[in-house]
Amino acid sequence: MSRNEYMKNYMRNYRKTSPLYKIHSKNANESRRIRAMLKIKLVLVCKCGRNDLSILEIHHTNNNGSEDRKNRKGDKFYDDIIQGRRKTDDLDILCVVCNWEEQLKVLKKLHPLE
Ligand SMILES: [Zn+2]
Repeated sequence: MSRNEYMKNYMRNYRKTSPLYKIHSKNANESRRIRAMLKIKLVLVCKCGRNDLSILEIHHTNNNGSEDRKNRKGDKFYDDIIQGRRKTDDLDILCVVCNWEEQLKVLKKLHPLE
């Protein structure tokens, strides 16, 4: 068995059996998310003052988030930001609460209540 084959088998087995793998890949995703956010804003804090990383999100200021996510599946969105392939001037950092408030504002505009 070549070294490459050995590594491939080893990694396949590791992903299947290691309870650490889930945590590990989750952390890798989390660090990618934070690196992407740092490209958008140097100080990760919402306009309301919340700065807990676990509740901060990337906000699309022109509300094309769902479209963007469709075109850049999964981690590609973060990778494109980190690598500078995606511009960030239509992005902001908001906490989940403010992000929802922004989305509600848009929904209310689209479907005004009489
Ligand atoms: Zn906020």
